[in-house]
Amino acid sequence: MSPQAMISLVIPVYNEEDNLRLLIERIHPVMQQMNRPYEIILVDDGSKDNSLSILKNLTVWPEVRVVALVRNYGQHCAIFAGFSIVKGEIIITLDADLQNPPEEIPRLVAEMEEGGYDVVGTIRKQRQDSIFRKTASKLINMVARKITKVGMSDWGCMLRAYRRPVVERMIACHEHSTFIPALATYFGKRMTEIEVAHDERAGGISNYPLRKLINLQFDLVSAFSDLPMKSLLYGGIGMALGGICFGVVLAVSRLIYGAHWAAEGIFTLFAILFIFIGLQFFAFGILGEYIGRIYKEVRKRPQYVIDKVYSSEQSEKDQQISRESR
Ligand code: UDP
Ligand code: MG
Repeated sequence: MSPQAMISLVIPVYNEEDNLRLLIERIHPVMQQMNRPYEIILVDDGSKDNSLSILKNLTVWPEVRVVALVRNYGQHCAIFAGFSIVKGEIIITLDADLQNPPEEIPRLVAEMEEGGYDVVGTIRKQRQDSIFRKTASKLINMVARKITKVGMSDWGCMLRAYRRPVVERMIACHEHSTFIPALATYFGKRMTEIEVAHDERAGGISNYPLRKLINLQFDLVSAFSDLPMKSLLYGGIGMALGGICFGVVLAVSRLIYGAHWAAEGIFTLFAILFIFIGLQFFAFGILGEYIGRIYKEVRKRPQYVIDKVYSSEQSEKDQQISRESR
């Protein structure tokens, strides 16, 4: 890779009107200091606030391109939309809310180039999030390590660098419910991670309510492992064996203590029956989730639809057309 390899930043944006100007103001000096070609691709993921009009104004910068999606597809789909038009050799993803300081970008690039890595992940030092989020992350990181068999420690931090071939292979997957850092492990050979700073959100509120968070974690688990299916299978075997043992205990007790004792245990049996029925429904729920997702893949709907790509070149062209038509 040439030392002047172009860098593409891909930033998903959903209702970030308070942060966008500051974001660009902080990115530009960092990138200019690196003294190499770069582009900033901002993907508007169907924001309901003023983000898109602010983004359009930001295309006065020649390095900025804005992708406007038709509706809200979610952070990972928005990043994919950005990936589809990148020009650079090194692609860096980061959040728009400035929780990932852009000042860390040169360290990521240096690590990638000096170590010859395909993917550089990051670990958030002194993470500025709620206790709930941090605890949930620990659990998810453990699961992600198990299912990808890659020993990275912080899968949730989206400040990450990928080499172009890894991104191209990810795009070729056409997956709907996916988790980019985990998908990248299938396509990158050399991977590492470095510690980076983590800040509080510059403005606005988190776009991840509990519902979206659970959905994202289900994307991670269902898209990359059959763990829920396996737990169903092993749980089922365990339950059946438990039932047999329980039957034996009941039979033996009946022989020792008499039929009278066993009849009084009838309500306990009912309680156990209800628990089993509950577990069965839970199992159907998991199966249903898989079937739903298979159905989604089979339908082959586009993963995202780009409405328009804005850039300074485009606005120059538009101006030229309007001058010519006058
Ligand atoms: N985001 C997005 N689409 C969504 C939700 C989030 O593009 O449906 C973007 C958001 O604008 C931000 C990044 O994804 O740039 C991370 O979101 P957020 O900061 O709300 O998540 P948190 O830091 O709370 O996990
Ligand atoms: Mg955030």
